[in-house]
Amino acid sequence: MVRPAILQFMAVRVTVLGSGSKGNSTLIASSRTRILVDAGLSCRETFKRIRQVGEDPCAIDAIVISHEHSDHVCGLPVLARKLKIPVFMSGPTNDAWDRGCREQNTHLDCLELFAAGHNWLIGDISVNSFTVPHDAADPVAFAFRAEGVKVCIVTDLGYMPTNVREQIRGCDVLMIESNHDLEMLRIGPYPWSVKQRVMSRVGHLSNAALAEFFANDYDGGAAYVVLAHLSEQNNHPEIAREAAERALEPRRNLLHNRLVLASQSQALEPITL
Ligand SMILES: [Zn+2]
Ligand SMILES: [Zn+2]
Repeated sequence: MVRPAILQFMAVRVTVLGSGSKGNSTLIASSRTRILVDAGLSCRETFKRIRQVGEDPCAIDAIVISHEHSDHVCGLPVLARKLKIPVFMSGPTNDAWDRGCREQNTHLDCLELFAAGHNWLIGDISVNSFTVPHDAADPVAFAFRAEGVKVCIVTDLGYMPTNVREQIRGCDVLMIESNHDLEMLRIGPYPWSVKQRVMSRVGHLSNAALAEFFANDYDGGAAYVVLAHLSEQNNHPEIAREAAERALEPRRNLLHNRLVLASQSQALEPITL
């Protein structure tokens, strides 16, 4: 597919293809390189959403994986086979994924293992992985840098430890988890054991925990803040938006902290910087 001429000259684009417990995947593109971050949608759905935003799935250079939970890897085997591109994940994540899917063929022709905390280059995009507190084997989040732009994708974390707060500094696009409203989770239908898991320090980040970070520790410099991995059971987009707006309020303007909500069911318009 030929990309519209206007897209070919733009610097860095971030396209959230889908976000939430039914599948996570985001496309990051510089003018030379395209990286798919997580592969939690089916191959067919991933291709469909990539085409809908005017990109070409066959132009993707690599896939990077944050952790082995199925909402981040379930489309991976088919995607990797079709695209024949390198897949980057940490060794413990690869082992856990292997163990977790005995029936499914998890062989990857072009597997590249990385150690959490390490940086490397994919084309002209530098990738920095850092550890997050979550109940997976070796969960990481990512900071990407290309053409003077820094993009952070930070979901699936129980709380915001110091290393994460530091990694987020100075980013231009901050995609961050706003998973649940504590009250909705408390009174909601989940069994108590699941509620405890979500709320724990290796579960998911609540609207309130994110608001606390925005109010007290965030440098306020991102052009766009994307609220991601919203729970469909235990959150509502307007509740998440309102909590973030209130916490960001003094620092929101036309150039900073424009708030975007990721969707489970459809790709967002590409964010271009
Ligand atoms: Zn997840
Ligand atoms: Zn997870």
